[in-house]
Order: sequence, then structure tokens, then C-alpha cells
Amino acid sequence: MSAGTPRRINAGTVSNEPAPASVFTIPAASPATTNKPTPVRSRVIRRPTARKSATCKAALVKWQRPTTQPRGVGQSVFCAARGSGARERSRRQAFVCGRGARRTWPSPACLFAGTDVREKAQTKIARWPMSVRGAVLYNFFEPLKVESVKLRAPRPDEVVVKMAASGVCHSDLSVQQAKLPFPPPVILGHEGAGIVEEVGKEVTGLKPGDHVVLAWVQSCGRCAYCIEGEEHLCDAAIKAMMAGEETAFEKDGMAISRMAGVGSFAERTLVRASACVKIPEEVPLDKACLVGCGVMTGVGAVTNTAKVRPGQTVAVFGCGGVGLNVIQGAVLCGAGRIIAVDLVEKKLQWAREFGATDTINAKQTTDVPDAIRSLTDGRGVDFAFEVIGMPEVIGQAFLSLRRGGKVVVVGVPGFDQTVQLPASAIPLEEKSVLGSLYGSARMRRDMPKLLELYMQKRLKLDELISRRISLDQVNEAFAAMESGEVARSVIVYS
Ligand SMILES: [Zn+2]
Ligand SMILES: [Zn+2]
Repeated sequence: MSAGTPRRINAGTVSNEPAPASVFTIPAASPATTNKPTPVRSRVIRRPTARKSATCKAALVKWQRPTTQPRGVGQSVFCAARGSGARERSRRQAFVCGRGARRTWPSPACLFAGTDVREKAQTKIARWPMSVRGAVLYNFFEPLKVESVKLRAPRPDEVVVKMAASGVCHSDLSVQQAKLPFPPPVILGHEGAGIVEEVGKEVTGLKPGDHVVLAWVQSCGRCAYCIEGEEHLCDAAIKAMMAGEETAFEKDGMAISRMAGVGSFAERTLVRASACVKIPEEVPLDKACLVGCGVMTGVGAVTNTAKVRPGQTVAVFGCGGVGLNVIQGAVLCGAGRIIAVDLVEKKLQWAREFGATDTINAKQTTDVPDAIRSLTDGRGVDFAFEVIGMPEVIGQAFLSLRRGGKVVVVGVPGFDQTVQLPASAIPLEEKSVLGSLYGSARMRRDMPKLLELYMQKRLKLDELISRRISLDQVNEAFAAMESGEVARSVIVYS
């Protein structure tokens, strides 16, 4: 071996084997020193050469730890993130890619870099833009078009999520019907769960392989609302949503945005890291996705917004996907009487299965508030939840209250609609109206708790799923939702 031949670092010694191109290299020792082991800590890794040569040619192949003991355990290595002069006393790890190429990298726990250098490396191996199939709304009132689109590369604060499942929520339909401000072209879907595939350079606390539910409010953690614990009202998130979403997809040069920072009607999507709520791997993702919107909105309206106490009485107007979750939220809180109101007998049957003690078919009842009073000793209910988004129904809910009762408006009326209420009842009967957005949730606190209740079989998620469909059937799911046939259709990705 000539004096200039690079050598390979090997468990505290320098081997005589010629080093492959994909490992860090060090200057070769002189022939006089090759007979005795050379401490690695006395060597300097030439960082620019080393980093370049460490690039794996097998792009898109996941790095995996070797099953054998990593080489060089306990030896001192140099921190590539800080530079060749900085030394990190830690375990040196070897990674093997799917094609057999081998490289070394400093420990992920690099104190100088402050982030996981292994994750940073992974953001570089994918090829962008990536082709994915998605359901695009090109024009209001038109069916979604399921086709191949391009997903752009993640920004430093973004995460690529491979979707496992997405619920089809009524708000998706509302966007298609121009009732919510997400202008086309847009990839709909905001009730998703999946697996983190890649993370941007500035992302901490998430790594490829993490199971996540996606939150459609991405709270900043710094504004006045977030500091007060009202993350669902985050100033930055609401402003970003109202200003129009950043584009994440593209088709033939046309930028396509993602609904509510999520866009879960696509095989893969890009989200801000703050959208990801990490969940345990044992929770099935096709159930977990429902917590991303409908379950959090419904249960949270009872537990967070209204804070129903045991024994209190509750009326629920509208027993669709969210209304059923209001009912099971009331059950969780120990509500006494739970009165479900709907026009569709099938939904009232679901309501009974989810815990309603009484049901009222509004089609067959001339005076619903009067019927509710007659079920509550003539007083009215403590809380009336409106889960439809119709001003007239908000009025009916108000009339169903006892003195001091509260209407909780969960359904979203049209932006141009107004509500008429008997004004004197507000001070003289101390009746009030509360709004509830996203179940007044603190997403990272509440969503894992809901899934814990599901795992304990105290929260119904399986029963919410009426149909499991493919992405191509999304327009049929919209039609089924409009006709009241389903509580939830869930798109399951292969
Ligand atoms: Zn929703
Ligand atoms: Zn905020």
C-alpha cells in the first residue's frame, strides 16, 4: 500500500484494507506505524471530502441500521455538522442502504448540531418533485378529479407524510360548494393520519417512521392565543388559512394548494411540522384519522367548550359524523339526559347506539323546543349543541334551553347568514351562545388522550366508519354524505 492510500476507520484501529468510496477517509499512516493499532482520536477527518464521499447513490432507499453491532462503538469521532475541528465523544454509527452501500456518520445525538444529522441526511435522498395521486378540486361545484400531480420538496419546517387514511368530512363538501374559503385548485382532505416519511432541516421532535394524526390548525406556539392555551385560535394559523394556503402540489405548471394546511386526499402530502400530532404505533391509522377533525370537534365541544358536568342535560341538533361525537362526548362527561334531534330516522338510530337517551324526529314534531322541555320536567336543557350550521336551528336550540342554559354552535353557517334570537332572554334568562371551533382543542394534549380512550374501548371510532373506500371513490362519498347515508366514509390508501 502506498503512503497516500486512504484507510478505513475500524473499531479503534486503522485497517489495511483499501477504503471504499462511501466511507469517511483519513490520511494513511506511514508503513512504520501500521504494525500497531492507531488511536482514532488522534486522526483528523477531512470533512469536505468525507461528506461528499458519504453520499449514497441509492436515492429513495431508506437508510437502515445494520442488524449487527455498529462499528467503532465507544470511540471518539468528529462532528460533521460543526466542522472538522469539533470533536464529539460518542458512538459512531454505520448505516447500510438497501443496495449494500455502506457509510459512516456521527451519532444522531450531536450536541453541537442540536438536531438529528441522520434525519437531515434523509431529506436529501428523495427526488423532487415527486409524483403522487391526489383528488383535486379545479372549480367549485365540480367533481374532484383524481389524477397524478407533483408534490414539491419540503421546506425546512415541513414534513412529508405518507397518508394511510383520510376521513371524508362535511367541510370537504362545503369547500366544493364554495361555503368555505379555500379557492381552487386545491387538494381537499383535512382529516388524515399517516406515517412521517421525511422531515425538513429545521424540524425537531419528528422523525421518519413516526405515526401522526394531522391537525388542520397548525398552532405557532408563540402568539397571544397559543400562550393562553387557545391553540385552536392561533393567530398565525388562522391568518394563514384566511390568506389562502401555500401551494404544495403542481400540475402542468399550475400551482395546487392543500386544504387547511393538510390536503389528505393525496397519497403523500406536505404539512408544517406543527400539523403533526404523534400517536402510538399500536393505534390503527384508519381509525386514528377520525380524531383529526370529526371526533375532536364533537367530543371537544362537550368536554372543552361546554365542560358538561355529570348529570347535566344535553340536546344535540344534527346527528351526522360530528353530532354522534357530541353525543359520545356527553356520555364521557356523564351527562344525564342526552336528547338527539334529526330529520333522518337512520341517524337517530345511530344516535341511540352512541348513547342518546331520547330521540326526536324533527320531521314528525311540530315544536321541537317544546318536545325537549317536556323531556326535562318543563325546564329545558343545560346545553343545546347545534351541529348543522343553520341559523333557524340555532334559534330552536336557544329556545330549548333552561334559564342559564347555553347553546354551543359547532356547525358552520354560511358567511352571509345571521341569527335572530330573543334578545331579552340573554340578560333576563341568562341564556348564552358559545362558539366551538375544533372542539376548543389543544391538539397535542387532546388527540392522544382521545386515542387512549379508544384503545380502552371507551370511545367509539370503528362504529363511525360507514364505508371504507379508495381515493377514486371520493365523489361517491360526497354524494353519500349529502344524502345522509353515511356517518363517515374513510379513504384507505394502500
Ligand atoms: Zn372536518
Ligand atoms: Zn399561535
